[in-house]
Amino acid sequence: MAVYVFKFGGTSVGSTERIKAVADKVKQAHDQGHQIVVVVSAMSGETNRLIGLAKQMQVQPNEREMDVLLSTGEQVTVALLSMALHEMGCPACSYTGSQVKILTDNSHTKARIQEIDDKKIRADLMAGKVVVVAGFQGVDAAGNITTLGRGGSDTTAVALAAALNADECHIYTDVDGVYTTDPRVEPKARRLNKITFEEMLEMASLGSKVLQIRAVEFAGKYNVALRVLSSFEGGEGTLITYEESEMEKALISGIAFNRDEAKLTITGVPDVPGIASKILGPIAELNIEVDMIIQNVAEDATTDFTFTVHRNDFLKAKEILQKVSKELHAREVTGDDNIVKISIVGVGMRSHAGIASTMFKVLADEAINIIMISTSEIKISVVVDEKYLELAVRSLHATFNLEQEGYPLTL
Ligand code: ADP
Ligand code: ASP
Ligand code: MG
Repeated sequence: MAVYVFKFGGTSVGSTERIKAVADKVKQAHDQGHQIVVVVSAMSGETNRLIGLAKQMQVQPNEREMDVLLSTGEQVTVALLSMALHEMGCPACSYTGSQVKILTDNSHTKARIQEIDDKKIRADLMAGKVVVVAGFQGVDAAGNITTLGRGGSDTTAVALAAALNADECHIYTDVDGVYTTDPRVEPKARRLNKITFEEMLEMASLGSKVLQIRAVEFAGKYNVALRVLSSFEGGEGTLITYEESEMEKALISGIAFNRDEAKLTITGVPDVPGIASKILGPIAELNIEVDMIIQNVAEDATTDFTFTVHRNDFLKAKEILQKVSKELHAREVTGDDNIVKISIVGVGMRSHAGIASTMFKVLADEAINIIMISTSEIKISVVVDEKYLELAVRSLHATFNLEQEGYPLTL
């Protein structure tokens, strides 16, 4: 007998028929004598629909109320799934995040899990019930409902698996594993049997939304055996592991991209100490995360400063920057929210030179202009115009030979 946490994403619970299919799958595992906790997302499209409603009420919706609203999506699915299980004669009990209780900090819409009270869940499991938990939500110390950020049900599942010391955590979704890149953009992408936590963390943080980054962090920290699988087909899926993966022999393990980017530039700022903090301080105060930052070499006594933010924060950041610009007597503020970040990731590139130049050459051959570049030991990211996303990803995928297992590609 094993303890499993199964998580089913939005598409997997997108209709009552699909919820019944999930119930079937869960019942089968339960009938085999396993203890099962199921985490579900809202039905597909529901979270976006709720965000749309909120925006009709307030341009910048109140974040506490936003969480009250968004948490309802998952509450619907837990109830429906429990009903489907009851109908099949499988004992089940549903819980919202606050009922469990999944205690989080109080940063509404992007809260972090601090503690999970596993008493009720353990008691239900001991009593032979399937426990169905609403993903993506928790409650802060003051009793306010919180949500964990988009894709947060993954994190609920992994955190529960850690708290319950589960044998495995299965993330069931609409693809049959983690691929070398998003298979929707490059149909020739290849499924990986295994990927290391380090690589998965990098892919997730650079935009591969197949797993929420915090879920990967949690799984790595608490050594949760994590597997991504298809809800609709069989197969082994992809195991996220500490073991050396096949990819470590490769120079490049995958390509991640992020469409949620926007960039802002302030030109003609005095090139004096403290300028970066004068520009970025007010941005940070509003809780806006800054990703890439570039400061040019000053030709006269002034310099230009460019940085990227999440597209949702673009207008807010631009507004602040315009104020800062006046105070600093800068020349102007410009911005572009039609950009994307594309990254090649691989622990193998640590020990190889020439990867960056190959990447730049591929983009140059396709006449794709690079707007920004940033590198680390195991990734190279470029910002390009969003119209080039598909072309860039496919060209890089082909050049780095990711379709084939014929690693390593020697440069
Ligand atoms: P769910 O609703 O089940 O949580 P998501 O939409 O959050 O599903 O995540 C699954 C999606 O992630 C896939 O449909 C795919 O388009 C996308 N994706 C992005 N990068 C990758 C990748 N490297 N491997 C697999 N899927 C990826
Ligand atoms: N329903 C939430 C979202 O769409 C959480 C999740 O699906 O993981 O982001
Ligand atoms: Mg998801």
